Amino acid sequence: LPSRVHEVYAPFVRDIPDHPAFMEGGRSWSYRKFSEAVDAAAKYLADLGIRPGDRVMIASENSVALGAMLFAASKLDAWGITVNPRLSAREIDLIGTHSGARRVLFNAALSKEAADHASRVGAKIDAVGPFGGIGIGPLNADAPAEPVEKDGKRQVAGLLYTSGTTGAPKGVMLSHRNLLFTAKTSGILRQSGPADRIYGVLPMSHIVGYTILLIATLMHGGTLYVVAKADPAALAHAIAEEGITSLFGVPATYQRLLEHKAVKGIQRLDRGKLRVMAVAGAPLDLDLKKRIEDEFGIPLLNNYGITECSPGLSGVRSEHPVSDESVGPFLPGIEHRIVDRQGKKVATGEVGELHVRGPNVMLGYYRAPELTAAAIDGQGWFNTGDLARVNGEGHLYIAGRTKELIIRSGFNVYPAEVEAVLNAHEQVVQSAVVGRPVDGNEEVVAFVQLLPGASVSAEDLKAYTAQQLTSYKRPTELIVLEALPSASTGKILKHKLREMAIERAG
Ligand code: ATP
Repeated sequence: LPSRVHEVYAPFVRDIPDHPAFMEGGRSWSYRKFSEAVDAAAKYLADLGIRPGDRVMIASENSVALGAMLFAASKLDAWGITVNPRLSAREIDLIGTHSGARRVLFNAALSKEAADHASRVGAKIDAVGPFGGIGIGPLNADAPAEPVEKDGKRQVAGLLYTSGTTGAPKGVMLSHRNLLFTAKTSGILRQSGPADRIYGVLPMSHIVGYTILLIATLMHGGTLYVVAKADPAALAHAIAEEGITSLFGVPATYQRLLEHKAVKGIQRLDRGKLRVMAVAGAPLDLDLKKRIEDEFGIPLLNNYGITECSPGLSGVRSEHPVSDESVGPFLPGIEHRIVDRQGKKVATGEVGELHVRGPNVMLGYYRAPELTAAAIDGQGWFNTGDLARVNGEGHLYIAGRTKELIIRSGFNVYPAEVEAVLNAHEQVVQSAVVGRPVDGNEEVVAFVQLLPGASVSAEDLKAYTAQQLTSYKRPTELIVLEALPSASTGKILKHKLREMAIERAG
């Protein structure tokens, strides 16, 4: 492995300089041209006062400019922070302050949100290397530079703030080694090479887009199709007409593709050259899995990851497709143990808390040593905070988050199980189940989003769950919402729903 992230594409600049590293809006960026753009961006950032050990924050939708600025930061031994410009002003400023960013840059040319943030902080619009329309935020002269480590195992490459589906955002420090290990493993498992055309719709401001899309593509000589805004019609077209070989999505990516098909009355979506279809980030609905597999005739590979593990932990392999909700075997190099509340290993097949160890585990949470100590023990075991089980064949199943487990009258209710029942109803688009504390006990509250024009009522759905679930698992209250609140990655914001459930009771 190289020691720094920006070194990954050097062999391709040498051997296949004219091969496209990126396609963006119909424009191709060769490996040579991209490498020159990174050099120019690095020079520009250095002139802006970015020193080794500084944090540089970039708010941008997916773009070649964002990729180049991240590699430029690596070149300068600065830490790259990517954030989604669709975050609110409060969220962006919180991350800027918490991280002590020396500068915050905004890709104002690409989105109104980024342009608004840029003008809000009085950023000056300039070109960074070949990339015009970049807002340059003011210099934070007080931001201290962190010490620089020669060893890529200890030097931070990326500081990723988790999307906060469970609460306040945390800054996850990922080393060069963390990111390179994941990018390498992911590329090997999907047999990635220069012939690959990878659809890059997941945000690079999130760990999957950053490592599995950006870094892994450039590490294996492939071409990344940079997509700034998810659009199922454009996705269907790219698969059918532009030779896309690999698609990585969240469940919503596939859900929306099928909705597009239904709305347009398309007979069958054209698979083109698609050979890898992967999904990650949230529990996968089996009905959705089956429908998309029937559509394209290839397996939908479920992958499990977490920002703190940069992110890959396990994934279903294309050689061993499964028909259930398993997230596959652990990736090579990752140790695991599943323990009960006393920290004792559970028997094979039983549910417990998943702890992992390996070269992908983060260095820690930035400026939060107490959070780091709570997550990683003295032997390097990281507590994922997820409940899981492993079957006899070594396949992992995620039961849900420890924090989201509902304990009702002493019985465990896994929200994912109740959600799976609700999602299987033909008029339900998606659902989310949370616990609500009442008099020392907890009740089950379900939020449901229905298909447009659905005729079913909350009472009907409650009656339906009564046929499917034993009494303690049934929702006490079931609330139909127009849409479920979600993060920019498409993940449902359960903490918001929990607050809503408590308010309704109170
Ligand atoms: P926060 O940690 O603040 O809640 P987040 O939820 O966005 O933010 P991520 O690192 O993006 O943090 O999400 C990791 C979590 O997503 C895992 O711990 C797990 O609960 C869930 N998850 C990821 N992939 C899968 C999957 N394939 N199936 C089920 N759950 C998954």
